[in-house]
Amino acid sequence: MYCRRCGTSNDENALRCGQCGEALQSGDYELQKVEKIPNYLAQSIIVTVLCCMPLGIPAIVYAAQVNSKLEAGDFQGAWETSRKARMWCWWSFGVGLALVIPYLLFTVLFGISSVSMSR
Ligand SMILES: [Zn+2]
Repeated sequence: MYCRRCGTSNDENALRCGQCGEALQSGDYELQKVEKIPNYLAQSIIVTVLCCMPLGIPAIVYAAQVNSKLEAGDFQGAWETSRKARMWCWWSFGVGLALVIPYLLFTVLFGISSVSMSR
């Protein structure tokens, strides 16, 4: 995103030009961006319940912080926190899968072998 006043290239999420301090985004645009920041709260809760408790908890904590940072006007912080929540969601999802799949395989194999042994 380029500054209208001095033409400096700024970060897409930057609210002000790093060179001259010109406001880069109008109020309407800020509101649109705010609505687009996902807080991952629903995803965090789902992976915590279904997959992996210890890794899902930081996801929920970060997800809960996204909205409070938005309310405080900390857009940069809200984006960062949103990314962290997403990362922890994927971690707990991945670890959950890594733990659940061997467990299911073991259960199925054990179930088959106990059935064939009882015959
Ligand atoms: Zn500028």
